[in-house]
Amino acid sequence: MRSIPLLNVDATTVFDDVAAAKHLQRRRRMHDARTNVLAAYQEYIEAVPEVGGLAKAVLTDQQKEAMQHAFSVETAPMAALRQKLLKRTCVARCPFCGISESSTLDHYLPKEQYPEFSIFPNNLVPCCAVCNTRKRDRILDEDTNVRMFLHPCYDAIAVLEFLSVRTRVEADALVISYRLVQPEGMADLTFQHLSSHFKELDLADRYRRMGLEHLGGQYPALRRAYGVGQHAERVAEKLIEGAEDFEEISGVNYWLAKLYRALAANVDFCAGGFEAVRPQPV
Ligand SMILES: [Zn+2]
Repeated sequence: MRSIPLLNVDATTVFDDVAAAKHLQRRRRMHDARTNVLAAYQEYIEAVPEVGGLAKAVLTDQQKEAMQHAFSVETAPMAALRQKLLKRTCVARCPFCGISESSTLDHYLPKEQYPEFSIFPNNLVPCCAVCNTRKRDRILDEDTNVRMFLHPCYDAIAVLEFLSVRTRVEADALVISYRLVQPEGMADLTFQHLSSHFKELDLADRYRRMGLEHLGGQYPALRRAYGVGQHAERVAEKLIEGAEDFEEISGVNYWLAKLYRALAANVDFCAGGFEAVRPQPV
C-alpha cells in the first residue's frame, strides 16, 4: 500500500494515437466515441479518488468493443504507453501490496464496466499479477457501497500508523500475524477503504508468508549479531536499525518495517529464537 505518481503523458494524445493505429472500422468507432470518452476523462479527474460511482459514458456496443480492443489488441502507441507506465523504477514494486514486482496493468475502474477508461493512463495502475487477479473487476462493496481498493495515484496513504503485527516463537516456529488498527484521528471511511483493500488482497497472509521468506534471508546476519557471546541486545539493535531504514524509505506502515520493530521487541526471538527462521537446506 503506497502512493505512486501519475505518468506525465497527455491522455488525449494517447487516445488519438491509439485510434489512428487501429484498422478502419474500429478507428471510426473510436472517433465517434471521442467526445464522450474525453468528457468521461474530465469527470474522472474531477471525482478522484471517489471514482467508484461515476456515471458510465454513453457508448454504443460497437464503440465499447472498440475501446476495449484498443487496450487488449496491442498497437505501437499502446505498447509504448504500457512500456512507459511499467518501466519506471518507482512502480517496480506493486503499489497495492508492496511485495511483488509490477508486471501487469490494472484497470482501476474495470474496462468491462467502464470501457471508456480502457486506455486512460490515469486509470491504468502498474501492479503485480497476484493483486490484479485478486482485484478482478470489482469497485464498490455491494453492502456498504464503499470503494474496495485504494487508488495508488490518488488516495493519500495515511501517515498515521494503521498496520500492526504480533510475533511469537512457538515450538521452534515463528508465528506472525498482521492486522489493521484504526488509529485515533483516522476517518471511518478511510479505515473502511484500508480494511477492504487489506482483506480483499489477502495482505495479512501474504505479508506473513513473505515475512518468513525474507527473514530466512536475514538469518546469517542475525546469527552473526548474536555471536558466540549470545548478544540478544545486538540482534534487537540490528532489527531496529533495519526498521528505521525501511521507515525512512517506505513509511511507518511498510510491512517489513513493522515486522522488524515487532521482532526487535520480541525477547524470545532476539535471544536465539531467530533459529526458527533458519532456511532448511535444499
Ligand atoms: Zn501486488
